[in-house]
Amino acid sequence: MKTIGLIGGMSWESTASYYQQLNQGIKQQLGGLHSAKIVMVSVDFAEIEALQHSGDWQKTAEILAGAAQSLEAAGADFFLICTNTMHKVADYITNSVNIPLLHIADATAQKLTIDKITTVGLLGTKFTMEQDFYKQRIIDNYGIDVIVPSDEEQSLIHSVIYQELCLGKVSSSSRERYLKVIENLVERGAEGVILGCTEIGLLIGNQHTNTPLYDTTSIHALAAVKQSLK
Ligand code: GLU
Repeated sequence: MKTIGLIGGMSWESTASYYQQLNQGIKQQLGGLHSAKIVMVSVDFAEIEALQHSGDWQKTAEILAGAAQSLEAAGADFFLICTNTMHKVADYITNSVNIPLLHIADATAQKLTIDKITTVGLLGTKFTMEQDFYKQRIIDNYGIDVIVPSDEEQSLIHSVIYQELCLGKVSSSSRERYLKVIENLVERGAEGVILGCTEIGLLIGNQHTNTPLYDTTSIHALAAVKQSLK
């Protein structure tokens, strides 16, 4: 079994889901007392969040590159960045280590391809929904159309992530609002919706909607289990 490296803490609420799902995945595959071999560096999200919102992505890249180097030194065979948003600086991080990154957008797009989804909605932070680093990778490398919510809806999705989900607050009124945004994406042609923020799975799941949901935390963790057993 290969050792999985995790850059976590963004937020720790979702990193806890990763830890659980990685271990469940290995147990499912190998049975008994088997569990995942994991090394993790968990950052202080308050620092990262402040840098994100002030636009200092270079500094975030340097912090996460340092984390990746620690994972490599600790024996990780490959690593995950346990947030969609911070894949914005994935190139800088991968260039600072010799172990490969398992990219969250690739894992997600591969699952969409298997499911023959050609148009998908994307929920995530404003950074993920607005900018090209995430959706353009899916469009260019996998030929899948990605549609995003309106500006107003994006602001709602973004503020629920930072002001509720990353603080461990799960509210049914926010769930209803998210479900309305998903409905609107489906009306505009989405065949499924990417939960492109690792905390959204704490708020909504398949029990809340008939629209196929692509929970990036689960997809990413499952891909890591497969890679660790390859
Ligand atoms: N975990 C979130 C994501 O997947 C948001 C927190 C962050 O900005 O990293 O994008």
